[in-house]
Amino acid sequence: MERIIIKDRKKESNNSVAVPTEIVGITKEKIGQRFIIKGRVENIVQTSGPTLFMLFDGTASITAKAFIKAGERAYQEINKTDVMEATVEIREHNNELEAEIHSCKKSLAQDFNQLVLERVNRLAKPENPEFMIKSDILEKLRPKFLNAAFEIKKAIMEKRPIIVRHHADCDGYCAGIALERAILPLVQEHNDERDAWRLYKRAPSKAPFYEYMDVTKDLAFALEDMEKFGLKEPVIILADNGSTHEDVLAIKKLSIYGCKVIVIDHHYPGDVADEKSEVDEFVIAHVNPYLVGGDSNLCAGMLCTEIARFIHKESDNIKFLPGLAGTSDRCKGSEYEQYLKIAEDKGYTLEQLRNTAECVDFEAHYLRFVESRSLVNDLLGRDRDKQKDLIDLLIKDINKRKEQQLIVAKHYCKVEQIGSIKIVEVDAARITNRGDYPAVGKTVGMLHDSFNDKRVITLGLGEDFITIRIGDEINANINKIVEHLQKEKPHTFAEGGGHEHAGTIKFVPAAFSEIVNFTKEEIKKSNN
Ligand code: MN
Repeated sequence: MERIIIKDRKKESNNSVAVPTEIVGITKEKIGQRFIIKGRVENIVQTSGPTLFMLFDGTASITAKAFIKAGERAYQEINKTDVMEATVEIREHNNELEAEIHSCKKSLAQDFNQLVLERVNRLAKPENPEFMIKSDILEKLRPKFLNAAFEIKKAIMEKRPIIVRHHADCDGYCAGIALERAILPLVQEHNDERDAWRLYKRAPSKAPFYEYMDVTKDLAFALEDMEKFGLKEPVIILADNGSTHEDVLAIKKLSIYGCKVIVIDHHYPGDVADEKSEVDEFVIAHVNPYLVGGDSNLCAGMLCTEIARFIHKESDNIKFLPGLAGTSDRCKGSEYEQYLKIAEDKGYTLEQLRNTAECVDFEAHYLRFVESRSLVNDLLGRDRDKQKDLIDLLIKDINKRKEQQLIVAKHYCKVEQIGSIKIVEVDAARITNRGDYPAVGKTVGMLHDSFNDKRVITLGLGEDFITIRIGDEINANINKIVEHLQKEKPHTFAEGGGHEHAGTIKFVPAAFSEIVNFTKEEIKKSNN
């Protein structure tokens, strides 16, 4: 572990009388003062200089250091999970507060651990604000909001690492950034500044679910941090992801390692009974409008912005995010209208929101798996001037690429009229340049929109996938089609889904024509 040789042992402390304090009360203004602190030893690190004890008292953590001789373990009678009562002087080292131990003793653990638990529960108590908009669905979700916010705050108070995993589109980014703007200030308030990086990570997921590759990566890093820094098992927050059957394997794997999962999503979660769906059994909190009779029109960016306000009252600069997320996810209905109004009040016109959404998708496409705390934050309005410059720069280029791509798609698509439904087919894999923007999903969406007809279905075909967009007036649910395929044609290895009217089905290449025909038949059947 990096740190800390005491260079200046001679500098005498002042002779003030040490007073007892909670660790959270130790701030920069207290440098040079003496206190009596009591904390559970969460970790002990022996450096080549002093011995470092990471102390936690349920309000916050601090590193307390003791020095006998270079590299020699101080207070050998005190071990990890013991409770230590110490008289300390507050010092600053590398911009971080630390406590230099003058004297200390072991203290009874049982009562203190109970106190720690009570303090954590008290501090983790969420805010319970009015929602930003009027919505029956949100009100029905309130207990779930309170639960999710409590679990997130508790993780912060317990100094658990938090990993936010979100879908790599504009809605997912809005969701992730809204949470980040609430979580990071609290992490900083209750820990060392450096911990903002060690205890919090955010990562976009390419797939619209928690892929096995992603969970394996997260777990590998988490286990490494646990070994290296003595960190606890992380809490993983899945945003705009996590509710579906396809997430279950990844989530179960995490639980084997003691990690906890919180899901905030608006994808169709399968059958709901008693406000619960399949993943509920494996997660500590699940917020999804479908659980209370809503649908995907309350998108993840909206849900996460509201949850951010339950976590941290003063979370800053997030109120336009639901309007942006809803615009990019094409939400409809009164909730979206109200959020749009709020974004407009914050100075964003609908056109600006559309352009911002476009630019976020564009950046997300090239960022792929990179967290990029700064880049996306700028696009999402951390600094309004820089945001404007970036968007002005990017949007012309993006629009040009889209226009060109649309010409290609329209040229190569086939249109077939079946009854009152128009089916548009395009060989999506062969009309896009691999790796370039816009990719398949976006291209199929643009082609679909270019018909401006609510009774159109657009199928973007690939060797082992179909990306589907379905017009508003057509009765169909892509997730149901996948379910039926799995039941009736297990040999196709069909999986995937997404939203009712926008999603992707994957399958083995040998099943291609069978899947295309089945999909068309299903839609025909439910629209006769
Ligand atoms: Mn979404």
